[in-house]
Amino acid sequence: MATLANYRNPIGNTGLSVSPIGLGTVKLGRNQGVKYPTGFELPSDTAAANLIDLAKDLGINLIDTAPAYGISEERLGPLLRGQRHDWVICSKVGEEFERGQSSFDFSARHTRRSVERSLKRLDTDMIDLVLVHSDGNDLDIIRQGEALGTLADLKQEGLIRAFGMSTKTVEGGIEAARQSDCVMVTYNLNHHQEEPVLDFCQANNKGVLIKKALASGHITLDTDSDPVQASMNFLYAHRAVSSAIIGTINPDHLADNCAKALTSLQRLHDGTP
Ligand code: NAP
Repeated sequence: MATLANYRNPIGNTGLSVSPIGLGTVKLGRNQGVKYPTGFELPSDTAAANLIDLAKDLGINLIDTAPAYGISEERLGPLLRGQRHDWVICSKVGEEFERGQSSFDFSARHTRRSVERSLKRLDTDMIDLVLVHSDGNDLDIIRQGEALGTLADLKQEGLIRAFGMSTKTVEGGIEAARQSDCVMVTYNLNHHQEEPVLDFCQANNKGVLIKKALASGHITLDTDSDPVQASMNFLYAHRAVSSAIIGTINPDHLADNCAKALTSLQRLHDGTP
């Protein structure tokens, strides 16, 4: 039977090849200051390990984390031990989350220290993809140049394989794509505004990761239709999408998302409506 392992998309010309669904891990590490429809407890280590095993069985090879996701990176180190080569790991720099508050530092010094800390926490000697975690002032961060410049240096040094930026504006997304390998963009049934970034990436062979593909779960509250299937159909209709990072700690939701992604991809592949 086909799984998402039959579908891999390149991230630009980095050599990285990722599943069309990625596993987002905010909910493995942080339950404060988040905008999900309902509150939740962080999953136990056993539940988290089972979720990761299931994701792998479903053909997922991309996992997304960040220093700003509470203890997510620290948990993933031990959880991925022995299976590091099965995964493309994406982490971030620039945002910190401590005592319930976010703060930002896009300096060269912080960027390097943050990546070194992520390497330790993730218990690895190389991170596949590192993105600048924007505070919304995308162009200011890009023009200041230190964060992206330092990530370019770290790529040269072999500590990371590819780099880019998680952006919040069209201008910032396009400029970040121009200067790096990959962008992470919000794109879902309720939010099309950043589509020009996807168009630019498609035309220029840059990777695109989608964040908030289900509008942080708010889209799934519409029970009149099948909002998850509609979301998958919408996302993959844009050929720029390398992967949609969906954040779930519910195994049934994970399996449902992968089955519906597969349905959309098979329809697109076969050219059926
Ligand atoms: P999302 O993926 O759009 O939605 C996640 C929410 O949807 C969770 O509350 C999840 O709850 C629910 N959900 C997932 N599948 C479902 C299904 N089949 N049926 C019903 N509910 C479902 O939003 P997100 O978590 O905000 O974003 C995804 C990932 O993107 C994050 O984990 C993170 O890795 C990344 N991200 C990056 C940034 C950035 O600035 N770079 C910002 C936000 C997010 P259950 O756990 O109950 O399934």
